Amino acid sequence: MSRTSQKQIKDLQKKLTHKPKNVWEGLSEREIKEIEKFSKQYMQFLNKSKTEREAIRTIETMAQRNGFRPPGEKNKKIIFSKNGKCLALAVLGNEPLDKCINIVATHVDAPRLDLKPNPLYEDISLSLLKTHYYGGIRKYQWLARPMAIHGIVIKKNGSPFEIVIGENENDPVFTISDLLPHLSRKVQRDKKILDGFEGEKLNLIVGGRPLGDDRIKDRFKLFTLKWLYDHYGMIEEDFISAELEIVPAGPARDVGFDKSMIGAYAHDDRACAFSALEAIKDLNNPENTAIVLFYDKEEIGSDGATGAKSILLGYVIRELISLSYKKYDEKLVYKAFENARALSGDVNAAVDPNFQEVHEKRNSAIIGQGVSIMKYTGHGGKIGSNDADAEYVGWLRRLLNDKKIVWQTGEIGKIDEGGGGTVAKFLASYGLNIIDCGPPVLSMHSPFELISKGDLFMTFRSYKSFLES
Ligand code: MN
Ligand code: MN
Repeated sequence: MSRTSQKQIKDLQKKLTHKPKNVWEGLSEREIKEIEKFSKQYMQFLNKSKTEREAIRTIETMAQRNGFRPPGEKNKKIIFSKNGKCLALAVLGNEPLDKCINIVATHVDAPRLDLKPNPLYEDISLSLLKTHYYGGIRKYQWLARPMAIHGIVIKKNGSPFEIVIGENENDPVFTISDLLPHLSRKVQRDKKILDGFEGEKLNLIVGGRPLGDDRIKDRFKLFTLKWLYDHYGMIEEDFISAELEIVPAGPARDVGFDKSMIGAYAHDDRACAFSALEAIKDLNNPENTAIVLFYDKEEIGSDGATGAKSILLGYVIRELISLSYKKYDEKLVYKAFENARALSGDVNAAVDPNFQEVHEKRNSAIIGQGVSIMKYTGHGGKIGSNDADAEYVGWLRRLLNDKKIVWQTGEIGKIDEGGGGTVAKFLASYGLNIIDCGPPVLSMHSPFELISKGDLFMTFRSYKSFLES
């Protein structure tokens, strides 16, 4: 074979085969700086947003600063919020709403440990709080590590107050004890991992000092109660009307010698929420109306008044229609939904170098290979999945390629291995086109999730291009 024909074959191979790119390949110094700047802002966002309420507050403040106002005021940038736990941002476009609306749907809740309504007790000379975990967690990951308490308490007289302890350098932290290896033989060694860690053992240690001598009953618990009373005027019954969330303490961190990654609590799904916020906040006069949704309750099935199954999106569309058309007509709502297109902004599972056997690597997302689009989620047999149609995937693929965005496609894992879902299927039921699109994550749902800064930036660029389309 001559040299030329070898070259021809190589050219043909390049033309015909699909080869994923790495985000970092061929970046200019300027682009690397841009990624670094975006990542820094994201990490600051994470540090301010450890709970769904904190995330919504941060998002709302940033949106207001960029001109978003409640519906009614003459403004093209509109903000809708619900209970301080979920939010929608909309920018009215120049084209009519029933022609096309671009929607990015994300969520701001994350797996964590919630306090039970009656949490405080004492045992073995310690004061402890009982928790009920929220979302899918691997329980052992939450033991023997510093934890913070974030949340809100409604007092007897109805007045609210907030608690955030464990984030400042001088704050105390809290922790859940784990068994020493020396004694784990009978209790854990022969058990399946799921049986070895019980939900009822996720009890948070919050104190070790008694109030008074041993003639006082429950004096360790009493010390904690007195501390809470002295600092917040809080009494034990107030726990019942509280939402106190136990989350990993401490800030997001750069990971790797090259600092190419970010390790933090709750990349799922604040990586997408932040990217979508950044994509919409400076959007002015788009051709099509743009909406970004920040839902709550995704991690427990999207139920509830602030989840994706709620009426929020229906309300937002109706409100925007009544603001934009002289005559409101319910048929317009149907048409608007029918012609809307959406991205379900949610993270995908990255291939784990230590557990490659759960992934089918030809169809899984790899850290550093860009934003991942997922045609379908669900588990074996695509059960419980919105399966985006080829036309829509084709449209999105063209958009991403035109904008030179590094992207990849990924399933969540091997067909029979398990799986997960996102808000995509709930929004799809409105009749719109939707597909999952977000960065791949390692150690998903753990206290220290890992993403690539490059993938994060490609996620932002994909949402921005989508909302501008
Ligand atoms: Mn998610
Ligand atoms: Mn999740």
